[in-house]
Amino acid sequence: MAVPKRRTSRARQGNRRSHHHAKPPQVQYCPQCNEPVLPHRVCPSCGYYQGREAVPVKVEGK
Ligand SMILES: [Zn+2]
Repeated sequence: MAVPKRRTSRARQGNRRSHHHAKPPQVQYCPQCNEPVLPHRVCPSCGYYQGREAVPVKVEGK
């Protein structure tokens, strides 16, 4: 099995981990009801996608 010849320096370890942060979620706003929605997904509050009701909305309080 291959074994590292040199110990990874703290600087190199930090450089490697500099990409480990999580990206904030991409948020857009529904043109139908102006609620925040994730892109390429049906709006969770009004069920619209691509300008039509793609999914019927459930009644609140179930
Ligand atoms: Zn909507």
